[in-house]
Amino acid sequence: MRTESTQVAVLAALALALASACTPPSGRDQAPALSLAAQDSREAAAHDDAPAPSAFPTPTSPAAQATQMADSYNPLNPTEARVLVHKGTERAFTGEYTDNKQPGTYICRQCNLALYRSADKFESNCGWPSFDDELPGAVRRAPDADGRRVEILCSNCDGHLGHVFVGERFTEKNTRHCVNSISMRFVPEGEPLPNAILLRR
Ligand SMILES: [Zn+2]
Repeated sequence: MRTESTQVAVLAALALALASACTPPSGRDQAPALSLAAQDSREAAAHDDAPAPSAFPTPTSPAAQATQMADSYNPLNPTEARVLVHKGTERAFTGEYTDNKQPGTYICRQCNLALYRSADKFESNCGWPSFDDELPGAVRRAPDADGRRVEILCSNCDGHLGHVFVGERFTEKNTRHCVNSISMRFVPEGEPLPNAILLRR
């Protein structure tokens, strides 16, 4: 009896050892499923926090753009200064980029900061270039002097870009950045972006 029960115990121990020896491979098999689930929840969380930038990361975000220190921004001619500095507005349907459909990046004419991507440009027929998203961190919003609109400004140099409107249902993002062409410069895809200018202070 004693011998038999010892044998049983040894067999049981062996079975346990075999079972645990089999555990690591099956554990590894489960790992991808677990991490996929974790990835899903991370993505869901990211969508909640910041839908557009996290879903469509862009290589031309301000963080990826090289910068240079300088004593002044790009010189502006009087027409450019009227809009960028004195918050004027280009006449509708006169700007050079209103109907531009080339792929590329729109940068600030005054400081070169990358502001918008062509992928976010859409046809609004309002007479000015329209975007439903900006590059992350590129655009600052402020109450307009008229007391009702929201002004948009370059987050680096405070150059006046135009106004932003929400709730018009043009696109899924339900946002229209109405931007003066003259506040921007277009850099076609494949061409290097100039450095964004940071002022020495
Ligand atoms: Zn700027």
